[in-house]
This record gives sequence, structure tokens and C-alpha cells, in this order.
Amino acid sequence: MHFSDLGIAPTILRALETAGYTSPTGVQAEAIPAAIAGRDLLVSAQTGSGKTAAFLLPALTKLSERSTGKGQGPRVLVLCPTRELAQQVEKNALEYGKDLRWMKTACLVGGASFGYQTRALSRPIDLIVATPGRLMDHMRSGRIDFSRLEMLVLDEADRMLDMGFIDDIETIVKATPETRQTVLFSATLDGTVGRMAEKMTRDPQRIEIARTETSGGTIEEHLLYADDLNHKHRLLDHILKESGFDQCVIFSATKAYTEELADKLSDQGYSAACLHGDMPQSWRNRTLNDLRRGRIKILVATDVAARGIDVPTITHVVNFDLPKQAEDYVHRIGRTGRAGRDGTAITLAESKEFHKVRRIEQYLKRQITEGVIEGMEPTRRPPKGPRRNGKPGGYGAQGQRRGSSSGNGYGRERREGGYGRGTGSSYDKRGPRSSSASQGQRSTQRAD
Ligand code: AMP
Repeated sequence: MHFSDLGIAPTILRALETAGYTSPTGVQAEAIPAAIAGRDLLVSAQTGSGKTAAFLLPALTKLSERSTGKGQGPRVLVLCPTRELAQQVEKNALEYGKDLRWMKTACLVGGASFGYQTRALSRPIDLIVATPGRLMDHMRSGRIDFSRLEMLVLDEADRMLDMGFIDDIETIVKATPETRQTVLFSATLDGTVGRMAEKMTRDPQRIEIARTETSGGTIEEHLLYADDLNHKHRLLDHILKESGFDQCVIFSATKAYTEELADKLSDQGYSAACLHGDMPQSWRNRTLNDLRRGRIKILVATDVAARGIDVPTITHVVNFDLPKQAEDYVHRIGRTGRAGRDGTAITLAESKEFHKVRRIEQYLKRQITEGVIEGMEPTRRPPKGPRRNGKPGGYGAQGQRRGSSSGNGYGRERREGGYGRGTGSSYDKRGPRSSSASQGQRSTQRAD
């Protein structure tokens, strides 16, 4: 299958070549022709599946033709849960639509200057990418004319509902013409999302993409149990010293702790910074730019702030704290393994948190390879849960490694400069031998 089989406008196909995309991902192959044909779509696809292009390419194909509508309002509106994701979507739209020179876009997100956004809205506009809150602000001031809107996209709809945007979304949808095409992407189409989706679409085509689909590289995952916070810090020190990371994102549960941890790491000589939702948007943007340019090596972030980060040079993700929601695990680890490169994700959990780990594993429908670092083992092991063979793997040891004669395997990894590049069996690229699930599952659970 090639992009040219999907009905995408030739001017956009050229940009895909430049972007280095050779063939469409599964979600793209299914969603693009249906969306170009004008169908409403309900798509369950994980971030990382190439979903952004799956809605942007049909949207841009629409924009490549003249509008028949009157007015100067947007022809396409994309709603996103977070600022970072919205900015990323606009960036992708400009990349794929680089040959649509006349195309005008605006990204309407909180924390950014109203003046700039208002100026953008005072001129004819083709595509708006927005977070619901800021879009509502502009709508209340009467600045947005939806009369010629052709396509409405809800990206990560489940996340927008989790964040409490349901009323805003309903108000926005009501303000748009009934004739619009509606395309909704969500990790799940069950429950509230499904009900909302049914209300706002007409005879939608459902597209469900298996969680294992991805356009990225392999992500090696490890789980390390710790006794307490101090132990987690020691493990983190070790990981940072020994993993040979290029750039690393560390996830912490609270905004305050991201700052504390970033300060601590800076004191240790790392170029570290934090990213969380209470920081002014300009500062968040600057931090992300510094990360992209490689000036920041370690970013300590909260879940929401880190959504949408697409920096291919991030080699490692460390979950210093477990995510509150199981699906955030997928989003977190998906900050690495991008643009076809491989990555490593290491999750630290206190032994008493084993039930939270189980919940994540239930969501993933697979196990995360458990390991130990020699000399830093937890004193208490979590009780044996529904793990199929009850044996921890990873970080060498426990009879799981393949092809290593002695030692714990960690030494080997160290020599090879990273966490498990093809050393122990549990993270052998061709597939694990035991407790972790198949490589296909393990390597492809990633997020946008
Ligand atoms: P998304 O799921 O939209 O966040 O996309 C994840 C990553 O895959 C982004 O870095 C995209 O640039 C990349 N991507 C999307 N579609 C393709 C494709 N067909 N081939 C290669 N990379 C892609």
C-alpha cells in the first residue's frame, strides 16, 4: 500500500516524501480514504499509531480545494486535550501542508498571547487547532465564525473528557454547522466517549486499530521494584550513570516534585529542567525548544505537560512515580522510541505498589519485564500475582537471560552502553523467552 492509493492530494504527497514516510500505517490506510470520501469516523487508535496524519492528510486534501462556503472562518477545526499536543498537530499540519502556501493556520491554546491569536482570527483562516478552553474564550468574544466549517476533528477525545471538557465540547459542536464532517480519535470508544461520539456523528464508520500498531521503533521496557523513596533515588542515580542515555524524560506524580527532582539533578551536574502545567506557557515552550535542540538532557515532567512531546532523540523514559491512570503508562513510554528509533522505558515502583503495576499490566494485557540491579535489590518482593510464571526477568539474573554465561547481565549491558540492547532474553530484540509478553506487544505499546 502506498500513500498515493489513498486519494491524498498530490501536493501533499510530495511533503510526505520529504518527511520520509514511505508507507501508510494501519490507521492511515483505513481512515484516510474513508475521511476523504466524506464519512464521519470513530477511530480507536493509540497515539503512536500515526493517527495525527490519519486525520490531517484528509483535512489538508480538503483544504487543497477551494472553499465553496462564504465567510472567513476555519474550514477545519481540530480539538486537542493539551497545549503541547495542539502545537504538535499544528506543526505537523504545516509540515504536511508546506506546499499549500496560501494555507493559514492558528493554534489557540491557553497560556499563549491573546493578541496574536486574535490577529490570526481577524483574517481568513483555514485550519484551527485548539484546546477547548481557549477556543471557548474566543467564541465568547464572538471572534470565530464557524459558518464555513467543513470538518471537525476531536483528537484524544477520551483524554478531553477525562480533563472535564465535556460541556465545552458540546457547546463547540453545537456552534458548528450540521453539515460538517466529524472525525473522532480516542484510545477507547467505550462508555462516555462512545455515547458522546454517537451524538455528534452521522452514520459513522468505526475503525479500531489494535494497540500493537505503531510507526515508531522498539521500546524496551523494564520494571524495578524499590523499598522506598530513597531506594528509588539510588536506582535513578544508577540508571542515569549507567544507561548511556542521550536524552531522558523522567515522570513524577506531582508538579512540586518535578521541580525538586529537576533541581536535584541540576545540582548533580545534569542539564535538567522540569515541565508542568503551572509553568507559564512561554516557559514551557522554551523548555521544549531547549529539549529539541539538545540543550536539556533530562526533562522531569508531569503527565499532562509531557503529552505531545515528539523529540526523536529521547532515548530513555523513567517512570520515577507510577502513573495514576494505566493508559498514561502508554503515553509516557511513547516519549521515546520515536521516528523509527529504539528507546528504553524503566518504571520504578515501591514494592507496596505492586497492585498498581498489576492494573497497568491488565490494561496493557501483558506483563512488564521485572528486573533487579545487582546490589540494589528490594528487600521485599511483591507477592506473586497473576504473572504467568511468577519469575521476574530483565536486568539479567533469574534464569531468564539467554546466551550469557555468568554474572547478572547488567555488567554486560553496561559494557554495551545501555539498558538491555539485546543482552538479556527479556529484552532481546527478537523476542522474550518468558515472563514478558511477546516482543510485538512489548515493543509497540507507545504513545503519540
Ligand atoms: P502520532 O501517532 O500521530 O503521534 O505519530 C507518531 C509518530 O509517527 C510521529 O513522529 C509521526 O511523525 C510518525 N509517523 C506518522 N505516520 C508515519 C508514517 N506513515 N511513516 C513513518 N512515520 C510516521
